[in-house]
Amino acid sequence: MKNRQLSPATRLAQALRYLDNETGAIVPPIQPSATYARAADYSERKSYIYRRDSNQTTDHAEAVIADLENAADTMLFASGMSAASAVMEALPARAHVVAPDVMYHGVLQQLQKHHALGRLDVSFYSTGDLAAMQAAIRPGETALVWVETPNNPDWDVTDIAAAARIAHDAGAKLFTDCTGTPPCCTRALDLGADISFHSATKYLNGHSDVTAGALSVRETGTWWDEVFHIRKLQGTVLQSFDAFLLIRGMRTLMLRVERATQNALAFAAHFEGHPLIERVLFPGLPSHPGHEIATRQTGGLYGGMLSIVTKGTEQTAIDTARFCEVFYPATSLGGVESLIEHRKTVSGEGFKVHPNLLRLSIGIEDVDDLIADLEQALTRATRG
Ligand code: PLP
Repeated sequence: MKNRQLSPATRLAQALRYLDNETGAIVPPIQPSATYARAADYSERKSYIYRRDSNQTTDHAEAVIADLENAADTMLFASGMSAASAVMEALPARAHVVAPDVMYHGVLQQLQKHHALGRLDVSFYSTGDLAAMQAAIRPGETALVWVETPNNPDWDVTDIAAAARIAHDAGAKLFTDCTGTPPCCTRALDLGADISFHSATKYLNGHSDVTAGALSVRETGTWWDEVFHIRKLQGTVLQSFDAFLLIRGMRTLMLRVERATQNALAFAAHFEGHPLIERVLFPGLPSHPGHEIATRQTGGLYGGMLSIVTKGTEQTAIDTARFCEVFYPATSLGGVESLIEHRKTVSGEGFKVHPNLLRLSIGIEDVDDLIADLEQALTRATRG
């Protein structure tokens, strides 16, 4: 049976049906070598020369993601930030970039820094607003349109197919960051994106024990070669031990995302309209303004990321996070364990974030335990 005929769940569970024909092993090995000896005629035996180029374990993890993304090629980096930074660095000097004003704060900071130093010319649009995106684009000049959907930490939704049409009509490439809904939910390249990015630290790995970033493209070419060159010279390739863990994590991606989605739907429905909560931000809720687009883009697999805005003061929100006993009071997302964080404390000053916003990564635990935990924390925090 051809691999393509099998469903993504099957291909993921078997890591593309890895099988070592010599030994029968069904788990891809870790190749830790930092250097590779040449053949007797001094040619390269395979394409490996040195650890900064790549290694076969990382190549295998890249193949799993490329398959899931329907990509021409995928490159893995040592973190999401190093992958996103490589894209920025591969752009020509002073290239025009259009980016959302509310997005993951690290990427936003990096774009702001490139702009302030005159390396890139960045125009910001209100996240999710396609008219504002279009107004910010300079036809024939804009090189890249950046989309983060759903965006972190508000979980606003951007229509990827519509954004791709707008970008392409102006001669620009579309970059998507869909970290909150991994490629088993949202296949951004199929929706029209040119570059699909994921912080693989999150859902793709799923066990909070690796940092990694994935870039996948519909077409390779000189620009893609330049990204490879940057990764090689900066030594930001994903290392083989981490690639091994990532492959292991991705085998259960489908199950984990299904369970997180199921939990988040029940959790959000429970807390929507709660007397101690101002708003629940979750695209899976029918009342969410981006619900219809999110359903179309994810096939109903919304993932487990949501935020709540608590009533009361900023301290009430901080205390709620502090008093949780099942949720870990930690940053990051997409792992099997549930996390809660007061976003303003973590992102710091200078970012547009509601002072009472708590970001929750809903994991795969029993949802009744998660609901009971937030209930008791809210009650304690409100009592003062
Ligand atoms: N993009 C988004 C949406 C994120 O949430 C994060 C991290 O939280 C990143 C990018 C950066 O990824 P990493 O932490 O793997 O460097």
